[in-house]
Amino acid sequence: MQQKTVYDSSSPYSGSIIEPSHASANVHYAIREVVVLARALERQGQRMLYLNIGDPNVYDFDLVDEARLAAEWAMSNRKSSYAPSEGLPEALEAIAKDARERQGIHNIIDVFTGNGASECIDLAIMALANAGDNILLPAPTYPLYAAILGRLGVEARYYRLDESNAWMPDIEHMASLVDGRSRAIVVINPNNPTGSVCSKDILLRIIDIAKAHNLLILNDEIYERLVLDDQEAFVSLASLDDEVSVVTFNGLSKAYLGPGIRMGWGVVSGKRERLESYVDGIHRMLRARLCANHAFQYAVKPCLEGGQKHLPEVLEKLRRRRDICMSRIEAIPGLSCVAPKGTFYAFVRVEGITDDSAWCQALMRATGVVVVPGSGFGYHASDAGYFRIVFLPDERTLLDAFDKIAAFAAEYSGK
Ligand code: PLP
Repeated sequence: MQQKTVYDSSSPYSGSIIEPSHASANVHYAIREVVVLARALERQGQRMLYLNIGDPNVYDFDLVDEARLAAEWAMSNRKSSYAPSEGLPEALEAIAKDARERQGIHNIIDVFTGNGASECIDLAIMALANAGDNILLPAPTYPLYAAILGRLGVEARYYRLDESNAWMPDIEHMASLVDGRSRAIVVINPNNPTGSVCSKDILLRIIDIAKAHNLLILNDEIYERLVLDDQEAFVSLASLDDEVSVVTFNGLSKAYLGPGIRMGWGVVSGKRERLESYVDGIHRMLRARLCANHAFQYAVKPCLEGGQKHLPEVLEKLRRRRDICMSRIEAIPGLSCVAPKGTFYAFVRVEGITDDSAWCQALMRATGVVVVPGSGFGYHASDAGYFRIVFLPDERTLLDAFDKIAAFAAEYSGK
């Protein structure tokens, strides 16, 4: 029998289109949004140089052998079933061991795996915050955090990273933002998009604020192995204090060169009695989404326990490419950049412009070079604009990109 359509003209959805949710309208991810225009230009015959996305596999970096072999083994041994929701026991043990023995995190309460650090971050925030709460984010920030908060109706409060102090968090500003609805401080260290690495002193001061106000620290250390100069400069925040409540995020995307295998994890540390019910909340979320990618969980232990033999070459390439970018930026009038100490990003200042999106779009149209505007990372300044460039490409590609950027910057007359 044919179904009769019921039409209620008082419904907000009585129009003729399928309406998207308010939550979706709040979600922005500039790193991929710039690709919409880039693809349109490509279709018109423009040659594009994509320097927008932090994916090593797009350039001359390959997934480490340990991960490839483990996944091949898993696929040949029928590991295509569901895995336990919290993660494969041998992966969880390897993550906990690495966190304890290498990173010095001693008070571990829980470990869980997810489809990339992204999913772990999403679940950890969803298990924590209610609409109307607020969470402190760095500015500039990695846009995933604001996208998650927007979806949940949780307010993003931005604390300044101070360009004049090597992009370190401005601790006074951070403290001034906390109120009774604050739930967490996000720390991204090493930082995307600035490439800065937090000093131990700064981390201790963030811990003091978190402890004073019973805040969780959401501690994103996905670039922790990609410290370019002084490896000793990096300290894992959770290793500095046994009582502060922390979830430390990490994964195989960056240091093990496998962003598409979607394998990440969270390590919860602090005082058990403070964290128990929150950890229960995380596990309810984990069960509801079934499990992380099963096969690639077999890669976690061999990666963490393997020789890390790929790293010296990766770091050497990144150092050379970073240095090329810095010397080219220095030579272009109006551009400057605090040299990144880690990651594969540089956050470049463009003097005298107020609309960095317009600048980046004009750059893309004129030259095909694709970079992400600083405003896409939640960062605005009154006297300058910013863009983030990825220095993963080989030296020739970077030199070509900077020739184009230099010619464009000399001609640009917008504001
Ligand atoms: N956190 C930061 C700071 C990142 O830059 C990225 C990816 O670029 C992620 C998390 C996401 O990592 P994953 O690929 O493990 O989801």
